[in-house]
Amino acid sequence: MAHYICPMKPIESISVFDMLKIGVGPSSSHTLGPWRAGLQFIKLLTAKKAINQTINIDVELYGSLSLTGRGHATDTAIMMGLLGTDPVTFPVEQIQAEIDAISQQKSLLLNGVHPLAFDPKTAIIFHRKFLTFHPNGMCFTATITDGSTITQTYYSIGGGFVVTSERKRGKRKIEDLSHFPYPITAGTELLAYCQETGLPISGVVMANERSLRSEQEIKDGINAIWAVMLDSMYVGCHTSGILPGGLNVTRRAFETHKNLIGDKSYQDAVSWIQAIRQTEVKFRQILKWVTCFALSVNEVNASLGRVVTAPTNGSAGVIPAVMMYYMVIENHDANLEDVQKFMLVASEIGSLFKKGSTISAALGGCQAEIGVSSAMAAGALTELMGGSPEQVLMAAEIAMEHHLGLTCDPIGGLVQIPCIERNAMGAIKAINACEMALDGDPKNAKVPFDKVIATMWATAQDMTTKYKETSQGGLAIQVNMSDC
Ligand code: SF4
Repeated sequence: MAHYICPMKPIESISVFDMLKIGVGPSSSHTLGPWRAGLQFIKLLTAKKAINQTINIDVELYGSLSLTGRGHATDTAIMMGLLGTDPVTFPVEQIQAEIDAISQQKSLLLNGVHPLAFDPKTAIIFHRKFLTFHPNGMCFTATITDGSTITQTYYSIGGGFVVTSERKRGKRKIEDLSHFPYPITAGTELLAYCQETGLPISGVVMANERSLRSEQEIKDGINAIWAVMLDSMYVGCHTSGILPGGLNVTRRAFETHKNLIGDKSYQDAVSWIQAIRQTEVKFRQILKWVTCFALSVNEVNASLGRVVTAPTNGSAGVIPAVMMYYMVIENHDANLEDVQKFMLVASEIGSLFKKGSTISAALGGCQAEIGVSSAMAAGALTELMGGSPEQVLMAAEIAMEHHLGLTCDPIGGLVQIPCIERNAMGAIKAINACEMALDGDPKNAKVPFDKVIATMWATAQDMTTKYKETSQGGLAIQVNMSDC
C-alpha cells in the first residue's frame, strides 16, 4: 500500500468550529465527509451552470471509504449530499425515507431541483484499491447533455474535513492564518503565548477566534454545539432497542440510565442535568454515569442520529461525557461559560494533533480518534479544574500516551464494536489523566506534549493497513457478523 503524505501542516490554523461540527452519524470521515463532498460537487456543477444539464452521475469510492463504506453509510451520505441537503439541519429521522425513495424509483433530485436517473447499486462503485493521496478517496463524475463530463476527486481526511488537494487547502489556510494574533503550530508555542499574555489556554484560543467572528457569535456557536451534545446524550439515555446494521447490538445507555436516575423527575434535557445532580454518586455511580453519557452519544451516532463531530463521529461521546461529568459531579454551578472554555481548550488540543499527526483513523487507527478525543477532554477538564496551561497539556499528553498504538478494527465496518464502549474508556481515561496532571509538576514530566504528538504520527506510520479503518484485521476478522 502507498505511503501517505505526512499531514504535518505547520501553516494551518483551525477554528473551534472546524474541530467541533454538528453532523450526522455514524462516521465523520465516512459519512459527514462524503456528504459534504456531495455538496461540494453540487456547488461545482452549479458554478459551471451544469446542474440542469446533468444526465448521469457516477461516484467511485476508494480504499477505506470502500472497504468500510457500507457499514459507515457512505453511500447514504453521498446521496444526501447530491440531494443538496444540509447535514447540520436535515431531520435525521427522514434520511432513510429519502434513501428508500431513491432506491425504489432509481432516480434522484439533484440539488433538490433536477430529476436524474440514479440507481445506487450501479452509480456508486466500491473499489478495493487505494488512491495515493489519502486512503479515503472518492471521485464524482457528471455527464452533461452534450456528452462532456465534469470530474472531481475529493478526500475525506478525518473529522468531516474534505479536501481536493493539499496545496489548495494550504493556500486557503495561509490566508486565514493572517487573521490569527497567536498562530499556533505546537504546544510549546501555545504555552509561550499563555506566559506572554497571562491568559489561560481558552483565552488565547478565544483571541484567535475573535479574529474570525465576534465574541457573541463564538459563544452562540459553542452553545449550539453544546445543545446538540446534550441532546444526543438525552436522546441516547432515553432510547432502547437494537442498533441498526445487523450486529444486533443492544442499546445499553437506556438501562444504565434508568437504574442511575431512579425516581428523580425532569421534563427536558436541561432539567435532566439538575435531576442527575440529585442522585447518589459514589465511585461506582460516577463510573456508570460517565460511561452512560459516552455510550448514549455513540448509540445515537450508530443509528445515524445527530451528534457533534469531536473530533470525529466514532469518538463523539468522549467530550460530551467529560463535560457532563464536570457539570453533574464536579461543579453543580457549572454554566455555559464553563462549556465555552472547555470547548475552546478541547478544540485547540485537537487541532494540534491534526496539525502534527492526524485525526483520521484511516491514517492513524483509533489512537487518532479515541486517543485524540481523550486528550482533548483531559486538557479541557484540567483548565476547568483550575490547572495551569502546563498542566492542561500534561493531562492531554497523559491521555494520549495511554492510547498510543490503538487500532481501528470495527466489526462489520459498523461504528459499534469496539467503538461505542471505547468512548466510555476514553472519557474515563481523560478524567484520570486530568487528576494525575493536577497532582503533578509539569517541570518533572518526562514526555512533553509535542513529543507524544510526534510519537503518535510515527506509530501511525508503523501500523499496518489492516488496523486503519479497513476492517481487515483485529476484532473485525476474529469476530464474525454471524457470531453477533
Ligand atoms: S475503532 Fe475507533 S477509529 Fe475505528 S471506527 Fe471505531 S471509534 Fe473510529
